[in-house]
Amino acid sequence: MQNNNHKLATKLIHAGAEPDPTTGAIMTPIYQTSTYVQEGPNEHKGWSYARGHNPTRDALQRALAAIENGKHALCFGSGMAAIDAVTKLLVPGDEMIVGNDLYGGTYRMFTKVFANFGIKFHFIDMHNAENIRNYINSNTKMIWAETPTNPLLNIVDIEACAKITKEHNLLLAVDNTFASPYLQNPLDQGADIVMHSATKYLGGHSDVVHGCLIMNDDELLARLKFIQNSCGGVPGPHDSWLVLRGIKTLHVRMQRHCENGEKIANYLRNHPKVGKVYWCGFEDHPGYAIAKKQMRGFGGMMSFTLKDDSMNAAISVMKKTQLFSLAESLGGVESLIGHPATMTHGAIPREERIKNGLVDSLMRLSVGIEDADDLIADLAQAIG
Ligand SMILES: *Cc1c(COP(=O)(O)O)cnc(C)c1O
Repeated sequence: MQNNNHKLATKLIHAGAEPDPTTGAIMTPIYQTSTYVQEGPNEHKGWSYARGHNPTRDALQRALAAIENGKHALCFGSGMAAIDAVTKLLVPGDEMIVGNDLYGGTYRMFTKVFANFGIKFHFIDMHNAENIRNYINSNTKMIWAETPTNPLLNIVDIEACAKITKEHNLLLAVDNTFASPYLQNPLDQGADIVMHSATKYLGGHSDVVHGCLIMNDDELLARLKFIQNSCGGVPGPHDSWLVLRGIKTLHVRMQRHCENGEKIANYLRNHPKVGKVYWCGFEDHPGYAIAKKQMRGFGGMMSFTLKDDSMNAAISVMKKTQLFSLAESLGGVESLIGHPATMTHGAIPREERIKNGLVDSLMRLSVGIEDADDLIADLAQAIG
C-alpha cells in the first residue's frame, strides 16, 4: 500500500503498514520478541536478533522515511540516542559546526561527552548561513542545524546551508523536531540527515521517548545502521508502536497546533505585561522570510519574556497556569509551559545563555490542541 506519490495525509496513515500476514490485523502488531527461530544457521526470514531488526520498528522506519520524503529511516530509543549515532560518524580530530541556539541536551552531549573523545565543536550564529564558511577547515566533517531553534524560534536557511556543505563535501544534519514533517522536510532542501526526537510531535501524546534519523544515501544508511546495531541504542517494539500510532494523526494535530499557536502568539504580543514574543510566524520575526520559504506553517512553539525580567516574575506565572502544565518536553496534545533558564537549558552557563537571548523571564510554550479561548483565558489569569 506504500506509494511515495501519495500526499502527506495519506502517507501518515498508510506508509509502511501492511495488514499482518498471519491474522490480517490492520494495525501492525507489537512484536515483543528478542529473537527469531532459524531454519538452519543464518537461514532466516531477515530477522535474527531484535537489536538488529524488529518488525514493529521496521514498519515505523518505512513510515518515517516516507513522511520525510526520504529513502531510509532508523529508529532509536530516544532523540539523544539518534544524535549520538550521528556524532559517531566522526573520529578524533574531526570538527563539527553547530548552531549556537540549540537543544540543551545536544549542547551537553557535544561538550561533555564527545569533546572528551577528541571531536571539536564550533557553536556559531547561523542566522546568516554564510557565517558557516568562516569556521570550515580541512577537519570539518559536519554541520548540525536545528530549525526552528529551541527555545528562541530562530530560523536557519537549510537550502543555503546545503549549498555550503555540498561545496565542501560535508554532511548536513538537521534536527527537525520542532517543525515535524508536517511543516518542513529538510531532505528536500538538501540536508543529508534529518533527526527527530519522536518523543515530541511524532509521538504526540507525551507517552513515549523515541528518536529517529531519516536519509537518502545508501552508504550513509549502512554506516549509521552499523553504529545503531553496534552501539545498541534501539527502541523497544511497544515504543515503536506508540510512535506508529501517533503519526497517524500528525497532520490533524499539527493543523490545530498551528491555529492555536497563531492565536496565542498574537494574544501575548498585545499583552501589556509581556516583553518580547518569539514566534516565527510574525512578519517582523528576523527569520520570517526563510520560514515562509522552507516551512508550510509556523507551529505551536513560542517563547515570551515579561517586561519585569526577573526569575520571580516568571516563576509566579508558571505556578499560576492551570491548563499549561509546567513540564519539560513539547509537542504533545496538551499545552505545556517551561522555563529554559532552569529547565531545558540549565546546562548552559548563565553568561552564555543571556548572551544568546535566553533571559531569566523567558518562558517557552508548547501550545496544545485544546480550545484556544480556554488557553488564552488561562494565560490571562496567570500573567495578571
Ligand atoms: C527533546 C529534544 C531532543 C532530545 O530528544 P529525546 O527524545 O528527549 O532524547 C533533541 N532535540 C530537540 C529539538 C528536542 O526538543
